[in-house]
Amino acid sequence: MVKKLYQPYKPNLDFSGLDHIVVGSGMGGITVATWLAKSGKKVAIFERHYVPGGFTHSFKRKDGFQWDVGVHYVGNMAKDSSLRSFFDFLTDGKLEWESMGEVYDVANIEGTEYLFKAGKENFRKQFTNYFPEEKKAIEAYLKLIEKTNKRANAFYFEKIFEPWLSKAIGWIFRKRYSKYSQRTTWEVLSEITKDERLIALLCAQCGNYGLSPKNSSFGAHAMVIGHFLDGGYYPVGGADQICEKTLEVFTAHGGKVFINADVTKIVTENNRVQGIRLGEKFIPCKSVISNVGVNNTFNHLLSETDRKKCKYNLKNVQPASAHICLYLGLNQSSEALKLPKYNLWYYKHENIDKIFDEATLENAPENFAYISFPSAKDPNWEIKNPSTATIQAISVGNMDWFETFKDSKACT
Ligand SMILES: Cc1cc2nc3c(=O)[nH]c(=O)nc-3n(C[C@H](O)[C@H](O)[C@H](O)COP(=O)(O)OP(=O)(O)OC[C@H]3O[C@@H](n4cnc5c(N)ncnc54)[C@H](O)[C@@H]3O)c2cc1C
Repeated sequence: MVKKLYQPYKPNLDFSGLDHIVVGSGMGGITVATWLAKSGKKVAIFERHYVPGGFTHSFKRKDGFQWDVGVHYVGNMAKDSSLRSFFDFLTDGKLEWESMGEVYDVANIEGTEYLFKAGKENFRKQFTNYFPEEKKAIEAYLKLIEKTNKRANAFYFEKIFEPWLSKAIGWIFRKRYSKYSQRTTWEVLSEITKDERLIALLCAQCGNYGLSPKNSSFGAHAMVIGHFLDGGYYPVGGADQICEKTLEVFTAHGGKVFINADVTKIVTENNRVQGIRLGEKFIPCKSVISNVGVNNTFNHLLSETDRKKCKYNLKNVQPASAHICLYLGLNQSSEALKLPKYNLWYYKHENIDKIFDEATLENAPENFAYISFPSAKDPNWEIKNPSTATIQAISVGNMDWFETFKDSKACT
């Protein structure tokens, strides 16, 4: 990440005249910040980590290896797709995307390999080949994905309605979507098919939404399946390019990014946001956009009084699912090692819920692994890092396993 795009936070810097403060520099934060800066607003991002980007940042080791911490692939990124034009707007077209090719994911369940190929027709063909008896179920599934995602679009569109309009007709959008979003992936899929291997395969990419079939919302499942249906793409230069190219545009429009800036409070008065607090320091602004998750925002950044005014019971929001990751650096090129561009989803057996629910630090990597080969996906890797390659292997994690490190800081 280019250092001139951000600066360390110091309490004595000039923070006057801010329209908006964005807390957290993940993809969500930098998106809204750049959009506002492009429309002429004075915006500052406060990030508590020592580099910006959240799950789009990458880290390096002294021997030159670089790994992404989050994003491994993004769907819906063909030149004429809606998401691509959105990213082109954010980055002024400077972020390039490399297709992962026809096969973008491979699931290995109990030793049998299944390919996920780009395109709805390919999906239909592949799955029907694997499960000829389930042709009707596969048809019904694809229709349901489309229908659910159409309802999701309407559901999210309703969020921009004026309050009076939302009150009058918003319930229609919410009710229509809740038919799928309020049910688990397992509930919906087991109505379509009784074939547990097919259900496991349809859920093989569930690591992308972090929850197993019996715990995830079918709305989230449909969104992710629909998102990757036309294949996967990788940001040229690595995942941190998403952040870097966006921040280049943000800072060119006057935006400021402060790192090592741990926001401790969102300050309100008479039901209006006044600014933020970092320890003793108060920084005023017209509005605060918190991008640090619902739990952190409501249960940590807002005061008890403000929290009580909130109409939802956010005390019950559970932390997101955790993971453990092994970062491997190899001293040969991806080509020499024949590393694939596609990601591998490995399951020891087809009961994904059991694997996730009964995971321990000892058995997790043996039962489930998501393996990705970033150096093989990036056309610039070999130019920048000749004769080297990287692999990332992820398995299920649990915060309780690392309880002793709870209050410690990340090492630099
Ligand atoms: C292992 C993994 C793999 C993934 N793979 C993919 C993938 O292949 N494709 C895909 O599309 N998505 C993937 N995702 C999901 C994607 O990376 C995330 O959904 C997305 O990046 C989240 O962005 P965000 O803006 O919501 O928040 P985050 O990226 O979580 O950013 C939040 C930021 O807020 C900061 N922060 C927190 N508290 C404070 C505070 N009090 N003050 C200041 N700053 C604060 C944090 O340090 C962090 O930088 C993956 C996620 C993980 C974890």
